[in-house]
Amino acid sequence: MKTVMNIAIDGPAGAGKSTIAKRIAKEMSYIYVDTGAMYRAMAIYLLRCGITTEMAGEEKGSIAKEFVDAVSKKCKDAKITIEYRNGEQIVLLDGENVNSLLRTEEVSQMASISSTVKAVREKLVELQQELAKTTSVVMDGRDICTVVLPDAQVKVYLTASVEERARRRCNEYKEKGIEADQKQIEAEIAERDHRDMTRENSPLRQAEDAVLVDSTNMTIDEVVDAIMQLARAQE
Ligand code: C5P
Repeated sequence: MKTVMNIAIDGPAGAGKSTIAKRIAKEMSYIYVDTGAMYRAMAIYLLRCGITTEMAGEEKGSIAKEFVDAVSKKCKDAKITIEYRNGEQIVLLDGENVNSLLRTEEVSQMASISSTVKAVREKLVELQQELAKTTSVVMDGRDICTVVLPDAQVKVYLTASVEERARRRCNEYKEKGIEADQKQIEAEIAERDHRDMTRENSPLRQAEDAVLVDSTNMTIDEVVDAIMQLARAQE
């Protein structure tokens, strides 16, 4: 029987997880599973149901019960599935390919807030675990090493300073010809980090047995090499 090997990568927003995970998946001929995209697809579904980030009322310091109740109820009906076409992950919402809608600011905010809700996490974690059960994957997210795949053969916590993460995001925008303000991006990243790290359900943290990779002063190749060494040692 073919053994399934799983590589789990957690870390804060903008640490380069998806770039690195994609490269490793290609080198190992594994499937890359972007779990953030699933939370983003759920966010699109919730927005389409008429639930807004304003309803979370976060400025009062915690998320409104009405928001949590509405999200908990609605998320159960979301039909999110994953397909792979030419090696690319396609997220389908009720059969519709929503990949091109995932990266807006509104969706980022809604994903960050709604992912704090337990029912959302339970639903998506089940889908993620199902995918990794029969297929060798490189999966990235916030709770992969701690909750989704605690038995993964390779576990990595990939991070970088908030300034460096903002600088990289800013450059990505500029390369696409999009105006970007580094200080503003830094503030948004810090806000999302705070929410991910302080939430009650599956907060972002380094698993005790995960290897810390701080990429602040590393190139993409260096990070890929470091993780590939860990993976090869398990083959
Ligand atoms: O990684 P990405 O920025 O696309 O993720 C979108 C949002 O989904 C994150 O801000 C985070 O709050 C949430 N997320 C999560 N758990 C994961 C992946 C993403 O809570 N495994």
